Amino acid sequence: MLDVLVIGSGGAGLSAALAAKEAGAEHIAIASKFPPMQTQTTMAQGGMNAALGNLEKDHIALHIDDTLKAGRGLCDEEMVRLMCSEAPQSVAWLEKLGVPFSRIKTTENEALSTIAQRYLGGASVKRACYAQDYTGLKILHTLYDQTRKYNIIYLYEYFLLDLIVEDGYVRGVLFWDIAHGEVRTVIAKSVILATGGFGAMYHNHTTNMYGTSGDGIAAAFRAGAMISDMEFVQFHPTGLYGSNILISESARGEGGYLVDQKGERFVDELAPRDVVVHAIYEQMNKGNRIYLDLRHLGKEKLESLLPQELALIRLHENIDPVFEPIPIKPVVHYTMGGIDIDKTMEIPTIKGCFAVGECANSKVHGANRLGGNSLLEIIAFGRIVGENATNYTHYVREKSIDKDYAQRAKDDIDNIFVDVHKPSFYSLRQKLGECLYQNVGIIRDEFNLQQALQEVTLLQASLSKYGIGDSEFKHNQALTEYLELRNMLMLAPAFISAALVRQESRGAHYRKDYPKMNDKAFLKHIRLHYQGEMYG
Ligand SMILES: Cc1cc2nc3c(=O)[nH]c(=O)nc-3n(C[C@H](O)[C@H](O)[C@H](O)COP(=O)(O)OP(=O)(O)OC[C@H]3O[C@@H](n4cnc5c(N)ncnc54)[C@H](O)[C@@H]3O)c2cc1C
Repeated sequence: MLDVLVIGSGGAGLSAALAAKEAGAEHIAIASKFPPMQTQTTMAQGGMNAALGNLEKDHIALHIDDTLKAGRGLCDEEMVRLMCSEAPQSVAWLEKLGVPFSRIKTTENEALSTIAQRYLGGASVKRACYAQDYTGLKILHTLYDQTRKYNIIYLYEYFLLDLIVEDGYVRGVLFWDIAHGEVRTVIAKSVILATGGFGAMYHNHTTNMYGTSGDGIAAAFRAGAMISDMEFVQFHPTGLYGSNILISESARGEGGYLVDQKGERFVDELAPRDVVVHAIYEQMNKGNRIYLDLRHLGKEKLESLLPQELALIRLHENIDPVFEPIPIKPVVHYTMGGIDIDKTMEIPTIKGCFAVGECANSKVHGANRLGGNSLLEIIAFGRIVGENATNYTHYVREKSIDKDYAQRAKDDIDNIFVDVHKPSFYSLRQKLGECLYQNVGIIRDEFNLQQALQEVTLLQASLSKYGIGDSEFKHNQALTEYLELRNMLMLAPAFISAALVRQESRGAHYRKDYPKMNDKAFLKHIRLHYQGEMYG
């Protein structure tokens, strides 16, 4: 029996596993459907917030203030305080592990005080610590190296199917072993979900990778967890126009401008994301094309501070930002809502099961996340949750599980293989993405939301009429993507319903029919509870 089972090998999962080790857990495993280097965390470019005050006067209180302001009243102040005050230690922890943060100047003394910071939107000072624009990648490389030093088991290509919960306690997890084509049951004293968000629902309109399908959120939902704040889906102002690839706020933080086709600026580029996105949307509605202009920064600065972004723009848009403005548009980037957790990051209705990172709603982002606060959240809270989950194991008696849950899961998968030659399910993924982008996008209203709800309910109902087109059990990519789509179709009606219920505009959720923020009725979280059948 494992002490701690972590699901997800992004920054949240790896920090949690390392913290569990530091807290004395002996038997730890990290399971993930993709190899560790294939996570959202590796894509993070801009930086990680911490009020170090190396470049400008800064204070934890200011960081708290900026975060609360951006969250538009929906942050849990205690959790924000915890996250922001943990930030300097979290950066120090990463630095000690070996993350090569960019420096103010390279000196022999590589202490915390020499780490460079840059502006990201909504921050009142330069607060984001970075490693060029490879921040997430370098953090993940370092964390992965560290986990390899210890006796932590990696369960590669294990797809979380469902949590096993008995009498309100988590007992283990059912996985689909992608490589071997079998259902596996893993028993653990405590489980940490670190499976990332659900931005991939907006297929073709998101910076997120394909597998960001909310699997952990869906599994927790099915197992009795509440999910909350699902209506807050953040658009990022600067996706590349042709490819949706992100150009991080770091480009504006280093001085890039947003301009229309006449070269005129129209917004404070470093305002919080919701403000900038709405300004761009308005311009686009007037028929204007929007560009990110970096030319005035000069080749040398661009190449030293933003090498990845430069390469991505050249590769995917065939544009050289040293000489040309870059066409951009807002695209879905981050999902603020997720599994509702308490202040110890445990799921209140599932004892021993914790959640952290983008799959969880720790309520530090409220209605609108600040750039740089997600990397902070996954490291700071990853460390805390690893310790909490380990402490929890001291109170757990070894106990075998009562039923053969694996057989049920196997029957469910076998059912998908009964007729693989039905029409391909991939068209549904396209339709889901299009439906959400058109109807549950930057601007929403009752009519569009109802339309979306109807459409996704129909997609959900029709899923069983579609097949995976591949009868091989082992390494079946289509099966993985089918399971992901099933999870997305389960969550979609839930989050559209939340958007319907929130009849106001707040942060990332803008209702054309209710354009004002309405604190009296809606200064609260919308929590949802699943009442369906596990394999319904
Ligand atoms: C392009 C881009 C740039 C960004 N830049 C920044 C930035 O500069 N600063 C910042 O603060 N934030 C940034 N973010 C946001 C931030 O990177 C993410 O929110 C954060 O990394 C999420 O970390 P995580 O550990 O929660 O999830 P992830 O890193 O997404 O990891 C999720 C893990 O769960 C696993 N998993 C998922 N489903 C299953 C399943 N069914 N079974 C088993 N395993 C599963 C995945 O394989 C993966 O290992 C950026 C995001 C993107 C997309």
